[in-house]
Amino acid sequence: MRALLLSEPLAIAPTERDEPTAKLGEALVKVHSIGICGSDLHAFRGHHPFVSYPRVLGHELGVEVLEIRPNEQGIVVGDKVCIEPILACGTCFPCRQQRYNCCTAIKVLGIHTDGGMAERIAVPINRLHKPTVDLTYDELALCETLSIGVQAVKRANVQAGESVLIMGGGPIGLGCLVAALDKGARVLVSDPIAKNREAAMSMGADAVVDPVAEDLATRTREWAGPDGGAHVVLEAVGVPATIAATIDCAAPTGRVVIIGVCKEQVPIKISDLMRKEVALLTTRNSCGAFPAVLKLFENHRAALAKMVTHQFGFDEGTRVFNWLHEARGGAGVIKAVLQF
Ligand SMILES: [Zn+2]
Ligand SMILES: [Zn+2]
Repeated sequence: MRALLLSEPLAIAPTERDEPTAKLGEALVKVHSIGICGSDLHAFRGHHPFVSYPRVLGHELGVEVLEIRPNEQGIVVGDKVCIEPILACGTCFPCRQQRYNCCTAIKVLGIHTDGGMAERIAVPINRLHKPTVDLTYDELALCETLSIGVQAVKRANVQAGESVLIMGGGPIGLGCLVAALDKGARVLVSDPIAKNREAAMSMGADAVVDPVAEDLATRTREWAGPDGGAHVVLEAVGVPATIAATIDCAAPTGRVVIIGVCKEQVPIKISDLMRKEVALLTTRNSCGAFPAVLKLFENHRAALAKMVTHQFGFDEGTRVFNWLHEARGGAGVIKAVLQF
């Protein structure tokens, strides 16, 4: 069967692989749609800390069930499902608290193990999630991205009527937007790229801001009203300057969640945090979020449809990776998918 193999940084090409077989507790699935994630591009560039080579990438998957044993979820052959790509040990401290997204022995499909950029794969049945409405394979492939936003909104405990600032209007930020709107929040999205701001507005943001043209903290306070800042700030950029700016944008007693991955030191004055008693939180992957993600499609399907902006055939994979790599975010892509 065909697979797309990243043999070393900057070298991705179609290859022939042996057919997978489903072990006990696993299902065999046919991959129809694969989202390309920022982390896939990091792996392509050789910058991903956990990817070794050769590797078949792909953790954002819309699939069809080919072989499955009777199971608790009631999933049967022919079902269209999405895959929660986290494999956890089940016994470490995070796992014992049902926080398997922080498992000390975590394996993410397509990062630590070979993933779904292949015609067929075998996956644990308990990692499959069946939608409540009939979704397309592209929509199913979007679910993993959305799960990050659902998790961040859960971490922030966003409430109806609250003001939420989202820094970053890429796929993660836009997923946060829909998850926050679903809670009844009012949302301001900050992004220097006009296309991302347009997408945020069309998906239901209350307002958008270009943080290069305007002072973000001032604009946030004006927008948020008398409480002195946003009740919640979600950072989906991952650079020191935006992470440091979250504190200034948050209302006194507000909550900040850092989603963007940043390996550098971030200068934060703890006294600024303390003066407002801001809760500074982090978030990682997602945990138990997929049912809530699938529920988002019941009420927000039109908004979510704006996220898959580019679709390509699987055989175009090499060209697509090179194009995304060279465009460096300038290609107007929110989410690109490869389709079988
Ligand atoms: Zn991803
Ligand atoms: Zn564990």
